[in-house]
Amino acid sequence: METAAGRKEPSLKPVTPEMLELFEKPTIASQLPIVFDNGHIFARFEGGCTVCRAPVDAEDIHGVITRPFPRVAIVQAIGACRSCKIYVPFFMRYKDDGRTETRDAAGNWIFGHSEREGGRASRWAAETMWALALAIAVLGSLVALVAR
Ligand SMILES: [Zn+2]
Repeated sequence: METAAGRKEPSLKPVTPEMLELFEKPTIASQLPIVFDNGHIFARFEGGCTVCRAPVDAEDIHGVITRPFPRVAIVQAIGACRSCKIYVPFFMRYKDDGRTETRDAAGNWIFGHSEREGGRASRWAAETMWALALAIAVLGSLVALVAR
């Protein structure tokens, strides 16, 4: 699918009841920060719209954070882009060394950069989630169309 401007857009999928249920949950921001046993703090979660690429407001990202292991937090969330009128799913693992991983449409894990890698660290710390969300847009079709 291409817009009049010629920009390629990810294909859209219908919204599922599971996504709507996730969107009924508290905001991810309200569930942060998470302080790991080693003192590392997972303080901020950011996601971008896969269509317009604008950041999704924190109050429009809802979901659950689970802790299957002490060193890992998993974020399952749904963001709503109000200008595109779509829901954008986010699935991310955040580790206590600052590394993040997210999944593409095929279910493969995409590794983010560690906040401790120096040099590019601060930029990545701020932009990792957004970049990974955009990677999902390129690789797959996880965007869901609001059903109305
Ligand atoms: Zn958008």
